[in-house]
Amino acid sequence: MTVAAIRDIVIVGGGTAGWMTAAALARFLETTRGGWRVTLVESDDIGTVGVGEATIPQIRLFNAGLGIDEDEFLRETQGSIKLGIEFDGWLRPGHRYMHAFGPTGRDLGLIGFHHYWLRGRALGDAAPFGAYSYNEAAAYAGRFMRGDNPATALPPLVHAYHFDAGLYAAYLRRYAEARGVVRFEGRIAGVTRDGMSGDIDTLILEDGATVSGQLFIDCSGFRGLLIEQTLGAGYEDWSEWLACDRAMAVPCASAGDFTPYTRSTARPAGWQWRIPLQHRTGNGYVYSSAHLSDDEAAATLLANLDGEALADPRPLRFTAGRRKAVWVKNVVAIGLSSGFLEPLESTSIHLIQSGIARLLQFLPDMRIDPVAVAEFNRLSAWEIERIRDFIILHYKATERADTPFWRRARDMAIPPELAERIALFRATGQIRRDQDELFTELAWSQVMIGQGIVPAAHHPLARLLGDDDIQGFLGTLRQAIAGAVATLPSHSDFLRSNRSQHR
Ligand SMILES: Cc1cc2nc3c(=O)[nH]c(=O)nc-3n(C[C@H](O)[C@H](O)[C@H](O)COP(=O)(O)OP(=O)(O)OC[C@H]3O[C@@H](n4cnc5c(N)ncnc54)[C@H](O)[C@@H]3O)c2cc1C
Repeated sequence: MTVAAIRDIVIVGGGTAGWMTAAALARFLETTRGGWRVTLVESDDIGTVGVGEATIPQIRLFNAGLGIDEDEFLRETQGSIKLGIEFDGWLRPGHRYMHAFGPTGRDLGLIGFHHYWLRGRALGDAAPFGAYSYNEAAAYAGRFMRGDNPATALPPLVHAYHFDAGLYAAYLRRYAEARGVVRFEGRIAGVTRDGMSGDIDTLILEDGATVSGQLFIDCSGFRGLLIEQTLGAGYEDWSEWLACDRAMAVPCASAGDFTPYTRSTARPAGWQWRIPLQHRTGNGYVYSSAHLSDDEAAATLLANLDGEALADPRPLRFTAGRRKAVWVKNVVAIGLSSGFLEPLESTSIHLIQSGIARLLQFLPDMRIDPVAVAEFNRLSAWEIERIRDFIILHYKATERADTPFWRRARDMAIPPELAERIALFRATGQIRRDQDELFTELAWSQVMIGQGIVPAAHHPLARLLGDDDIQGFLGTLRQAIAGAVATLPSHSDFLRSNRSQHR
């Protein structure tokens, strides 16, 4: 018996996940020339979630891999620059800190910069940890420059984007279709399966049309049309740690203030995002329905916009967690169909990106090997669980006790691995981080320190510098950052010049 090579891939869904997958497959499989066929099915009636608007710097690697020009991308998606995320009121009302991208301070020798910062603190230097981040200083000054700044020896700013997710999907659709991906519009009403293997053979659309394939990528969103509704993969629920299960989203008119950072403001039963784009500002209140009604959430959101609301608030429901298996038989789930973590650290689009990278890495050739499927599932679970713990940290390490929501967060039991990380940092200033984990040691230290977890002591090697030397070192760093920021153009000018150069 001859076995047919697996070359026929069908993507179910045309949201951010579907079109990112289609674009990447088109780019890396040379769809039209290499014998591969990639088909995407989406339903205009069902539509997309389309609120994913903030990203992390890894998205630049994805776009670069597709050969996308950054200036064109920013114009096409009404995008803006993101240098970090501000957490306002997360430790306590009135307090704020930033998880900024890029380095903080400068490591000297074997130990991380935060040990020198701790030493400076012990000597009476009151500057916060974030004062040593070039990214943070530029973000608060509303400035940005791409690449090297000739006026400073500091490394370049590290950036991600805010963008209109609907425009990004449309842009990637043009990209993918130009490279051979075929799109079908219509609602999938059923599937046929192979009687022996249980694999999915064919999608049946409402109008009777059929789409067949050998490998199916389920990008159908929360419903998990194939992975859950057809194959029953199961869902691991994380709401004991991440109680928010609703969001109310609304765009508002731009205040003309294109702050190059995302803001997350703690609210009585969750938090509110603010994401400035060129043509509007995206806003949303992520909250726990056990602590707040939808009407109250909408009222709070509308009362806290910096411009006129451009639509009615739109409710979204979700459950934090992950699909127990994201690859089952000949179906791989990517995007919301694979699991969900609230957008506190803008990680969903990144999880799509890494899901695609893993799919390419494990792409089957003649047959789907159960050993590869098991490893794919293990890696996917490991990745999202590490990100989950990073998000739980923001809730657990709060001093807020002003509402039942925050008291619950502060007092909840957390996954043991996270508890160990916190205890280690508190006692020694050491960060436990697994290889290949998304968030770096610096990201962990920024959020731990920002959330009030300050190590009891610095590392003894930080005493190799004398008292005056350490104060001089810290002061010089602050001056270098302030001097560099003063030479940067404004973020608004950066966007304006990008628009005007291409009229
Ligand atoms: C409140 C909220 C805020 C978010 N903010 C961010 C953020 O700031 N940053 C970030 O990285 N991520 C964010 N996300 C996540 C982000 O929105 C998603 O990761 C992203 O939109 C991908 O969605 P998707 O493509 O998996 O699903 P969807 O957008 O839901 O697309 C599903 C697709 O499947 C199709 N489909 C479904 N059923 C059928 C059927 N029967 N027949 C045919 N087609 C079908 C639909 O038509 C649609 O095209 C946020 C999510 C939420 C809920």
